[in-house]
Amino acid sequence: MDDVDEPGKQPELNWSLVDLAVINKRLEGWEPQAVLQWGLVNFGDDLAIVTGFGPSGIVLMHMATQLQAAPTIVYVQTDLFFAETMALRDALAARLGVTFVEVHSGLSLSEQAVRFGPCLWESNPDLCCSLRKVEPLRRFLAAKKAWVTGIRRDQSPTRAKATAVSWDNTNQLLKLCPLVAWTSAQVWAYIAQHHLPYNSLHDRGYPSIGCLPCTQPVGVNGHERDGRWVGTDKLECGIHVQMM
Ligand code: SF4
Repeated sequence: MDDVDEPGKQPELNWSLVDLAVINKRLEGWEPQAVLQWGLVNFGDDLAIVTGFGPSGIVLMHMATQLQAAPTIVYVQTDLFFAETMALRDALAARLGVTFVEVHSGLSLSEQAVRFGPCLWESNPDLCCSLRKVEPLRRFLAAKKAWVTGIRRDQSPTRAKATAVSWDNTNQLLKLCPLVAWTSAQVWAYIAQHHLPYNSLHDRGYPSIGCLPCTQPVGVNGHERDGRWVGTDKLECGIHVQMM
């Protein structure tokens, strides 16, 4: 593992067996663009950037399009996004010149209501997330070797120990988090510097935006993810929760 001091190509490796602690120690000192470049060089079309159109994802998408003409950028369509999020998707496609890959559960909301009840996000949000987000993404990632996500340590206690590179045991591929050490302030400074579009709901008290039924605005002293699944002990949709 001597060649990871810069984003060069690694020899073919079984990543699940590689000592990722050694790689992380070196990648921690890299700029996010270098981590991203390392992923793009090593995995090419076998790497997918997954976004929910949050601020970190916007930064990563912009960085990726500066490094490569047509990176694979994916989002999971739950059919429950805010209209503002869909408007942002279209604005980003135009601004960055990308065509997003849409991943879908294949389960319409009406079919879900018939099978599981009218508001599954209230009666069983874990099952709703599993059906509409986690499993569809898992099926898509089954054909990939690495994925990139915008999670950062400062977002929540559940993400405080995230590392730049990890083995995603749930989905059985490498997971890259180039912005893991960035703060919210750094993300917003980057968006402002590059005049990137962002979700207009952020200006109306929504620091983190998911599906409409499960997202609320937070007060001025609220933490970034306080508006998600309010009134429950649920903190994550499950995409970033690891099966042992
Ligand atoms: S965030 Fe809410 S509506 Fe969206 S998939 Fe999860 S439980 Fe369902």
